[in-house]
Amino acid sequence: MQRWVRLVLLGVAALTGLVTLVLLVYGQLLAALLWGLVAVAAFVVSRASPDDEEAQRRAAARAASRPAPPPVPDAAALADLKEPVTACPECGFVGIRMAGIQEGAWPGGGSMMKVVCPRCDYVGLPLEFAKREDYAAFLAELAG
Ligand SMILES: [Zn+2]
Repeated sequence: MQRWVRLVLLGVAALTGLVTLVLLVYGQLLAALLWGLVAVAAFVVSRASPDDEEAQRRAAARAASRPAPPPVPDAAALADLKEPVTACPECGFVGIRMAGIQEGAWPGGGSMMKVVCPRCDYVGLPLEFAKREDYAAFLAELAG
């Protein structure tokens, strides 16, 4: 939402709120209720969606904080990987570790499959590839 649209909506909310108060003072309850609804609606809508610019900035920051996937390994590097290959679903990193108690994983709690990615701070279930080639294909897809 553009900044001026938000300002106009806030203005409408303030004006209709004022009208509501005046109507209340003069005992026009039904009219006051209707104007009050308009005031509340205008206020809620003006608050509901963040600025387009702000949303774009946040999306850009999110994209920047996510590291690029590791390069697709060549045949020799791929052959060094142990099968099955367990990797981070967010960034494709293979150096993930099991989540500890500080990440909310409790032994025997059914969450022992949780992993932590030291590269992108992903916490959750890892991706497992039975074949190295499947992992390579996944990396290629991550790279776009
Ligand atoms: Zn990761």
